[in-house]
Amino acid sequence: MARMPHSDDPLNAHLARLLERIGEVSRAMRWEEATGSGLSPLQLRILGFVADHAGQSVGVARLAEELQVTKPTVSDSVKLLVDRGLLAREPDLHDGRSHTLHLTAAGRRHLPAAEPFAAALATLPVRERETMLLALMRLLEALLSSGDVQVQRMCWSCAHYRGDRQGKHHCMLLRKDLALAELRTDCPEHELA
Ligand code: SF4
Repeated sequence: MARMPHSDDPLNAHLARLLERIGEVSRAMRWEEATGSGLSPLQLRILGFVADHAGQSVGVARLAEELQVTKPTVSDSVKLLVDRGLLAREPDLHDGRSHTLHLTAAGRRHLPAAEPFAAALATLPVRERETMLLALMRLLEALLSSGDVQVQRMCWSCAHYRGDRQGKHHCMLLRKDLALAELRTDCPEHELA
C-alpha cells in the first residue's frame, strides 16, 4: 500500500489528533447505541449502510469491501441481523445467483442517529461548514490516492464531474450544477474518471 509522505508539521499533527478525537466520539456514540440495542457497532454500521443504499444490491461481499472488514466477520453479523428480523434477504434482481439485503421495519428502528453531530455542526456559520466540507472531501481523496480508503464514489473522482473543486461544480450525467452541499461522496451513478 502506498503511504503519504510523513509530515511533522505541528498544524498537521494537531488536526490529525482532532480528527482522531472526533472519530473516537463517533465510535463511543456507536457503542452507546449498540449497548442500548443489544447489537454490535459493526451490526449498526451494516444497518446504516443498507439503509443508505436502498434499491441497490447489497450483499456480504459489498459490505466487506465498503466497511473494510473481512467477509467472514460481515457474514456472521449479517446472519445475526437476519435471525433477529432486522434484515431480510431477497433474490438479487441483477444477479439471480445472489441475494441482496433489505432493512425490515424492526431494523429501521435501530438506525444509528446522527443528531449529536448535526446539532453541533448547526452551531457553525455556513461559510465554515462549507470550508470544512471541501477540506474533508480533499482529505478523503488523498486517503483514496494513498490506498488507505478502498472504496469511494465522490464527485471529484467521477468521469461526469466538471468544475473547479472550489465554487463551480457540474454533473454531466445529472445535467445540473451542484451546490456545495449536493457534492456526493457515495454516489450510485459514480464512474471512475
Ligand atoms: S454522477 Fe454522481 S459522483 Fe459523478 S459527478 Fe454526478 S453526482 Fe457526482
